[in-house]
Amino acid sequence: MKQFIYSFENEVNATIKKYKLLKKNEKTLVACSGGKDSITVLYILNKLGYNPEALIIDLHIGKYSDDNLKNLKQVCKEQGIKLHVVSIRKEFGCTPCYAKSLINSKGMNLSSCSICGIMKRYMLNKKARELGANKIATGHNLDDEAQTVLMNFFTCNVDAGLNTGPSTGVIKDKKFVQRVKPLFFSKESDVRKYSEAMNFPVIYDNCPCSTGSFRHEIKDKINQLEKDYPGTKINLVESFLKTVSEIRKNIPKGALKICKKCKEPTRNEKCSVCELFGKIKGFK
Ligand SMILES: [Zn+2]
Repeated sequence: MKQFIYSFENEVNATIKKYKLLKKNEKTLVACSGGKDSITVLYILNKLGYNPEALIIDLHIGKYSDDNLKNLKQVCKEQGIKLHVVSIRKEFGCTPCYAKSLINSKGMNLSSCSICGIMKRYMLNKKARELGANKIATGHNLDDEAQTVLMNFFTCNVDAGLNTGPSTGVIKDKKFVQRVKPLFFSKESDVRKYSEAMNFPVIYDNCPCSTGSFRHEIKDKINQLEKDYPGTKINLVESFLKTVSEIRKNIPKGALKICKKCKEPTRNEKCSVCELFGKIKGFK
C-alpha cells in the first residue's frame, strides 16, 4: 500500500507540473464538498507545499451536508488548513432543492445536479474572487471528465466543454478565477483507494439528491466499457482534448461577457444563474 500511496501522489504531482496548474506563491483555494476527491486534493496540495485554503459551500442537504462539513473541519484542523464556509441559502435566499421545485413548477425539467451545479459554480467563482484567490482547485477526476465528455456529446452541448481540460482559462477575464483539476488524469477507483488508505473521514455514498440523474447512467455504461475495454476512460478524455484544442483556435477574443443583471462573467447576455432564477418571479 505504501507503494500505491507514493505512486498516486506522484501521478497528481506530475499532472500539476506538466500542465503548470499551480505556483507555490499563488493563493490556491480548494473547492471542497467534504467528499473523497476534494479532500484528497486538499491533503496532497498541502503536503506538496502549495499552502491551500479550503472553501465549502453548505448546500443544506440535512445530515449529509452536516456530516460533510464536520469531516472537512476535522481534516482542516488536523492539517492546519484555513477553512471558509459559505451558505448557499444566504447567497441565493434558497437551497438547490427548493430552487429545483420552483424551477420545475414553471414547466422546466432540470435535474437537481444541473441546478446545484449552476449555483455552486457561480458562487465558487464569486467567493474565490472576493477572497483574492489566484486559482480554484477542484476534485474532478478522470471518471467525472469522461462522463462530462459523453454527456455533452449526447445532449449536443459540446460547446460547454470548450473551456475545460486540466485547467480552465482558455477564455481569460479578470472576473473569472482560473480553475484547475489536479486529479484530471486519476481514476476514481484510485482516488477512493488512496482516500481509504489515508483513513480520511469521508462519506462514500453519493449525494442523496442526485438519484436517477443522467450522469449516473452514463457512469455505469462507461464503467462497463472500461471493464471490457481497459483504457476507455483515458482514451475518451484524450480524444476530446485533441479535438477541442483545434476548435479553441477559433474562439474569438472577447468571448466572455459580463452578465447584464449581476455583472458576473458569462458567455451569454445573462449568466446561467440569472437566466434560471429570472424565470421564477421574485428571485434575482
Ligand atoms: Zn447574472
